[in-house]
Amino acid sequence: MNVITLKPGKEKSLLRRHPWVYATGIAATEGRCEAGSTVVIRAADGRFLARGAYSPESQIRARVWTFDENEPVDHALFKRRVAAAVAHRRQWVRDTSAVRLIFGEADRIPGLVVDYYGEGERGQLVCQFNSAGVEQWKDALVQALVKETGCPNVYERSDAAVRQREGLELVTGVLAGAEPDPELSVTEHGVKYYVDVRNGHKTGFYVDQRDNRKLVGDLAQGREVLNCFCYTGGFSLAALRGGAASVTSIDSSGDALKIAANNVALNGFDAGRATWLDADVFKMLREFRAEGRQFDLIVLDPPKFAPSAAHIDRAARAYKEINLVGMQLLRPGGLLFTYSCSGAIGMELFHKIVAGAATDARADARILRRLSAGTDHPMSAAFPEGEYLKGLLLEKV
Ligand code: SAH
Repeated sequence: MNVITLKPGKEKSLLRRHPWVYATGIAATEGRCEAGSTVVIRAADGRFLARGAYSPESQIRARVWTFDENEPVDHALFKRRVAAAVAHRRQWVRDTSAVRLIFGEADRIPGLVVDYYGEGERGQLVCQFNSAGVEQWKDALVQALVKETGCPNVYERSDAAVRQREGLELVTGVLAGAEPDPELSVTEHGVKYYVDVRNGHKTGFYVDQRDNRKLVGDLAQGREVLNCFCYTGGFSLAALRGGAASVTSIDSSGDALKIAANNVALNGFDAGRATWLDADVFKMLREFRAEGRQFDLIVLDPPKFAPSAAHIDRAARAYKEINLVGMQLLRPGGLLFTYSCSGAIGMELFHKIVAGAATDARADARILRRLSAGTDHPMSAAFPEGEYLKGLLLEKV
């Protein structure tokens, strides 16, 4: 049997059902503790705490599969976990064919992310295996995914940098079924989007912003919209469908912008209402300010400015800058949708940064709503780290 025994006091977080064991909390290991091995995790006094997967290269040295001493870690466990995750989405997710099917810790499969695009035979599952544990159980997980969804096509996008911290190589490719359809598209709240599973960011599409794109669409009627960090045009297309007078979109990825422009044609929207700018948002916002440009609705959905706690100060300055200029570019009565997907920056801090930006812009602003990812990105009560996407909807008075 493989056993890791914790230092005295280090059992507390596991007793609260937090699923991670840090290397610094371990007193001793016994047996063959290798990458992905199942280990029993014991408190200093020998008490059973959990079973988990060992990860010799990572600071997160083990991730919990189960807190139940009577639950073995076997194929059946992964079948149950995948089935439960799929059932949750069937109950909660509507009006879309792009769904986050597995969201790591929240679905009790730490390190696994799976998005499901389309449906059935022609659907496409896209997976990221981001821990030694899920790497070890890859075959079982893929089998369970195919069985539970009825989707035969599984593609792997395990090319995120986090894999290197686990000592795992970056890999991409077909795990089951056919090569991804280069013309694959999804429909979300009536808007069609192409998804580039092979070369797009992450798994190809930012599924997490679904509800927020819907809200932008609902409020876009007749407005001049500016969408910053637009990627393949998520918010832009929602705004066009919602009847925006015009939509100006900025991204520094030419490939993403090409897909965005194709999305306009895919939906049969009038291309004359959409302007795509291949540019740096920071520069472009300052240029717009110098030109006296004004908008009625602005979306700021930047990439993760703070990859870890060490980057918080620099990230805070970057968030402040775009929000400050964003606020200045809004007409009175205008709406600002602003987001942070940095896990290291919590809602309270983000709120403070954005409020500070409004003050410095000498704007009176009201916060109408706090925003988050959709219900297919549930948050485990014991794992606050899972809450990464946060947003605010502000109205300039
Ligand atoms: N809102 C999008 C997702 C945004 S992802 C959606 O709903 O699909 C963040 C995007 O920011 C990426 O497409 C990336 O290419 C772009 N990006 C990152 N830094 C940038 C910068 N300085 N200027 C412009 N775009 C940038």
